[in-house]
Amino acid sequence: MSRPEFDIVIAGAGIVGLATALALSEAHPELRLAVLDKEPEVARHQSSHNSGVVHSGLYYRPGSFRARLAVEGAARLEAFCAEHGLPFVRCGKVIVATDDSEVPRLEELHRRGIENGVPGLELIDSRRLRALEPHAAGVAAVWSPNTAITDFGLVARTMARLATAHGVALRLGSRVVAVEEEAQRLRLETTTGPLTARYLVNCAGLHSDALARAAGERPEVRIVPFRGEYYRLAPQRRGLVRSAIYPVPDPRFPFLGVHLTRTVDGEVEAGPNAVLAFAREGYSWGRLDPAELADALAFPGLWRMAREHWRAGLFEAYRSLSKGAFVRSLRKLVPEVREADVERHGAGVRAQALRPDGTLVDDFVFLASRRALHVLNAPSPAATASLAIGRHVAGELAAVMGAAPAGAASPV
Ligand SMILES: Cc1cc2nc3c(=O)[nH]c(=O)nc-3n(C[C@H](O)[C@H](O)[C@H](O)COP(=O)(O)OP(=O)(O)OC[C@H]3O[C@@H](n4cnc5c(N)ncnc54)[C@H](O)[C@@H]3O)c2cc1C
Repeated sequence: MSRPEFDIVIAGAGIVGLATALALSEAHPELRLAVLDKEPEVARHQSSHNSGVVHSGLYYRPGSFRARLAVEGAARLEAFCAEHGLPFVRCGKVIVATDDSEVPRLEELHRRGIENGVPGLELIDSRRLRALEPHAAGVAAVWSPNTAITDFGLVARTMARLATAHGVALRLGSRVVAVEEEAQRLRLETTTGPLTARYLVNCAGLHSDALARAAGERPEVRIVPFRGEYYRLAPQRRGLVRSAIYPVPDPRFPFLGVHLTRTVDGEVEAGPNAVLAFAREGYSWGRLDPAELADALAFPGLWRMAREHWRAGLFEAYRSLSKGAFVRSLRKLVPEVREADVERHGAGVRAQALRPDGTLVDDFVFLASRRALHVLNAPSPAATASLAIGRHVAGELAAVMGAAPAGAASPV
């Protein structure tokens, strides 16, 4: 049998796939690498439809991938942006307890952040909150001075440029539809023809579970698309927000709650909510994919989640359709915001893994098999953590490949 065309093919040119390509090409210049994406350009989905916040790592369970890789990834990202002249603004953020009942959870977040090694965190009172964010209302807050903002789409495009300069083949407009294992290699069927590789890395985001199944895996989790819709503040009202103002999140869900954030373009965005979408790329209510919907409805986990959280789901749908309801959520954080101050401003769709028992997976998930490594859950803060995830995946892949080549063996 002839030699495979590539040593490793990465499916998905979002920020995770590209960071993985970069890590592999830096550590192992001898490997023949390719990145494939079904879209005509890189980072068309989650990686360019997000809040642009470089999270400091305070929310996540100590010891989890999210905690470790967010803290490390944020530091790597800052250095990467400095090296390549990309925007990185350390604006800080406040997480605001709007009444006394939220204070214990706020204190817990502060404790977690300290345990996760997040630098500079402070528990502050309402006077200090007013000094930092004069228009925010709250009884107490956590101040995270290291939280930053960037443009993840631009970061991803820069990663793509660097990876191709390292010799990585970037094949756009090429969807991986099937993966067959042959004697010493994989044969990938793509919409632009077949190709062969020794290993596959699946970084297909919203389609990662489907691709894992196409490659013969039986992952227990299923990706559920949660749309996050945004508004933006009118230019003359941007002064209401200096940095980023977040609520105390609901611990039942892995989402951070509707917040207000500055962007590197000088806008102030409000959102995202978390609405169950009718298609994996369901960027609006009108986008419905009957086959994907039927597949999702056949998954018992969806029904169990619906039974447990139907009230929250209905509220999210209502808040999505009603500007007034959305603005009422914002007014809890910044009471001066009025309906006339905001206009709709696009949406992103989160790839969130769901278990058969109806619980939402709250950590990154990596599934290794003989010739593949599947990234099966990489929601927020995976953009923040991308450079650390890339190094982690490169290290895991070295283990899959049987030998740990120099530089990639140690977990990040
Ligand atoms: C609304 C929203 C707000 C967020 N805010 C933040 C934030 O502030 N900070 C943060 O750190 N994170 C945030 N995130 C999360 C972050 O954007 C994602 O975790 C990250 O972008 C995931 O990157 P990815 O490469 O895994 O996925 P994606 O960017 O979705 O990339 C997957 C790629 O795979 C391609 N693909 C799919 N199937 C195939 C196939 N069969 N063959 C070939 N290609 C395929 C797709 O075209 C796509 O380009 C947010 C996400 C959303 C949706």
